[in-house]
Order: sequence, then structure tokens, then C-alpha cells
Amino acid sequence: MKVKFWGVRGSVPSAIKGISIRNKIKKILTLAKPSDLLDENSIENFINSLPFSLTHTFGGNTTCLEIRTEKNELIIIDAGTGIRELGNVLLKEGYKEGKGECHILFTHTHWDHIQGLPFFAPFYIKGNVFHIHGISENIENRLRYQHNFEHFPVPFDKMEATKIFHQHKEGEIFRIYDLTITSKGMKHPGGSYSYKIKENEKTIIFGSDAEFRLDSMNNLEPFIDYFRDADILIFDTQYTFEEQLTKIDWGHSSAAVATDLSLKANVKNLVMFHHDPAYSDEILDEVYLRAIRYKDMLDPENQSNLKIHIAYEGMELFV
Ligand SMILES: [Zn+2]
Ligand SMILES: [Zn+2]
Repeated sequence: MKVKFWGVRGSVPSAIKGISIRNKIKKILTLAKPSDLLDENSIENFINSLPFSLTHTFGGNTTCLEIRTEKNELIIIDAGTGIRELGNVLLKEGYKEGKGECHILFTHTHWDHIQGLPFFAPFYIKGNVFHIHGISENIENRLRYQHNFEHFPVPFDKMEATKIFHQHKEGEIFRIYDLTITSKGMKHPGGSYSYKIKENEKTIIFGSDAEFRLDSMNNLEPFIDYFRDADILIFDTQYTFEEQLTKIDWGHSSAAVATDLSLKANVKNLVMFHHDPAYSDEILDEVYLRAIRYKDMLDPENQSNLKIHIAYEGMELFV
């Protein structure tokens, strides 16, 4: 399977500011030595030596993931603003002609997980077929509500693709293509559901939005069992450890909790996800380094083989 990240921010989209780009350029120029600028090769090497936050941005779109099966079949998780750009790419894959068909899984219907749907071009094209899966009750009504004329000019049914709704129960096992999918409810205001997707003994778990607190870490066995041996666990790490102590019941977790859980559950790849909209690229670089240091402290010999990643727009992982 492949997973590609189209939106990695939590709560609200957060576009990068011009001043941030200016500051990046200034820092880069300050770091450059004459020998770094001799020719294209030395410039390329210099750029490659810089921290991620100086040469990239993590991205400002809210939650949307593309999962591809071995046969390149498509599953989308959530329709935050990241789905708009995914939709534009799908137009080149038959969706412009109304020949596309895929599945969308919804974890829950907070705005940051549905607000891209009205801007998802393939939804407007007759002939495309979308299977929409949810565990939150009345998933169809929740999505329709976003298109009430008080909120959006185009009614839901004016988006002419065929939408087939599949209402599931928590923990129910269902099949899509050759995948086996199940789910688990997460602690989150209004409820949120994690999906576990399995193909040929490889497992991807999407586990955002979810609040795990250090003071309730003694009741984690059911979650550790659920996460056990995952090849990829995409997890809510919106807050720093210090912030999490003050933002109780806001519905999110930290990288420290995610690392503890991943080590206990023998997860192979942990992906930090649902970045706080207030965090700059530089802060996210630091949050990532702290997560790596924390993991190295708990597992100095790397016996776990746990690898920690931090999600950015465009990132792809394969299992
Ligand atoms: Zn969210
Ligand atoms: Zn949420």
C-alpha cells in the first residue's frame, strides 16, 4: 500500500505567510559560505544540508490522505481542505470524464475533516461514483448540512457524481477491494473513529483525532492491542507535552504519548500528524527533533525498530 498526505494540519487551514518565506531566505543566505555557491552541484549539496523547515513547508491544508492498494485502487481518508488539490490530480485519471470510482472514509465530521468536500472537483462531475463510509451516525445528513444555503452556495445534490453512503458500526469488519478494514472509537469531543486498513498482512492505522493523556495511561490495553504491529500508525500529535497538560479535554495528544504507545504496541512507523495551526515550520522541526530524542531516550539501542516521521504535504510512505 501507499499513503500520500494531502493535508496535515489540525483545526483550521493555516497558509504560510510572506514574512516566513523572507525569514527562511535570510537564514539560508546567512548560513551559505562562498564554497557552497560555486556551481549547481555545490548549491544542491548546500540546500540538501539545510533543515527541512528552511527548504520546505509542512503545509497548511487540513486532513486528507490518499491510500493506494497494490492494484492502485483509491481510498481517501477525510475531506479537509487537502482534498481540493487531490481532486485536481484525479481529474487527470478519468474523473474529468466521469469515469472515476473510489471510496472515502470519514473519521468524524468536525469542519477540518469535511470542509474541502465542496471544493472537490470530481464530486461535480456526473458519472463518477463515490462510496462514502462513516461510523459517526447520520454521516449523509452531516455532509449535506455543510451545503445548506446559509453555509455554501451549491446544494449537495447539485454536485452530480453518484454518492453511495455506507453507514458502519464501530468495530465492524468490512471489505473494500482486497482490503480488510475495521475501526475503533477515539476519545474526542463529539466522537472520532480510527480506521485500521489491512492488505496482504500490511497494516496502516489512521488514528487522529484522539486524546490520550498521561494521567489515563493505565487504561490503554485495548488501544495497544488495536495498534499492535502496525506497519504505519498515523497519530494525533497536535500538542507539545507541556501544552497537553493545559489543554485537557480539547481532544488531542502529544508526540510523547504517541511514542509511548507505539513502543508498547511494536509499531514500525509512527507518523506525527494533525499539526497545530499556530506552529511554524521551524517549531515543527523542533517538535520532531524532540520526539526523536524522547524515543532515543526510551529505546537507546533501537531494539524496537520504531521509526518516527512527521507528516508534510506531499509525503509518501510505502508498506
Ligand atoms: Zn481535526
Ligand atoms: Zn476533530
